Formats: sequence, structure tokens, C-alpha cells
Amino acid sequence: MARIDTLEVSMKKKVAALLIAAEAATKVRWVVTAGRRTMAEQEAIYAQGRTAPGKVVSNARPGSSAHNYGLAADLAPLKKNGSIWWEAPRKIWQQMADEAVKLGLTSGFYFKTIFDAPHVEDPAWRQQQALWKAGQVHVA
Ligand SMILES: [Zn+2]
Repeated sequence: MARIDTLEVSMKKKVAALLIAAEAATKVRWVVTAGRRTMAEQEAIYAQGRTAPGKVVSNARPGSSAHNYGLAADLAPLKKNGSIWWEAPRKIWQQMADEAVKLGLTSGFYFKTIFDAPHVEDPAWRQQQALWKAGQVHVA
């Protein structure tokens, strides 16, 4: 399944629009590098830099990331050769972030706690989190 297809329908539509808007703004193509994440996958990411090797990449415990609800995606620009351009200039990431904000999304580029330029999320995701905490929805 394509990563964008793991998202909730409302988020999928916004991310599809964002891919187009980001390309128009930056003149480079963008891809979705992460979509929905299971609780087990979130646990593994949270462990990185804490109880597992590597540097800390997330402050979110399982259930505390919009990815767990299909309401977040990570996007990255592509080089001409089709490989991911992780080292793209800050301005390129900011242009994508600003297009995300225009679409009503929150961008990790502007997070105060951890700089997460590829990340965009639906600000309403905490409503899903509240339902999950209340035991009203099952989250895989
Ligand atoms: Zn993310």
C-alpha cells in the first residue's frame, strides 16, 4: 500500500494537495516517506536514542503521535535522480511547511520542542487521541 493510502481520508486529501502545492512552490518533486504508524512502530521510534541505538528522533510515546491515528505524514523533496534530498536547504523545507499551514495543517518545521521539518499533521488529531484514551476507539 502506498504510504499516503494509510492515512485517514481527510488527511490523505490534504497531503495529496500538499504534494502538488509544495512542488509548485519549490520546483522539486515531493514524496511521502511516512504515513500511519502502528503503536509498535511508534514504540520502536521512541526507543531510538533512549533504550536503542541512534539519536533521539521523536518525543512521542505510542499514542502520543498523530501518525498513530493516520493524521500525520512525513514528506521529503526528491533530487533530480529520484533519491530523497534529506540535505535540502532549510528554505525548501520551509516552503513546504508554509504550504502545509495554508492547507490547515500543523508543520513540524515550526515545532518548538523538536525540529521535524518533514512532518505535517492535522491539528484535530488530539480529538482522536482523547477517544483512544477513553477506550472509545481501537488503535492498532
Ligand atoms: Zn512525522
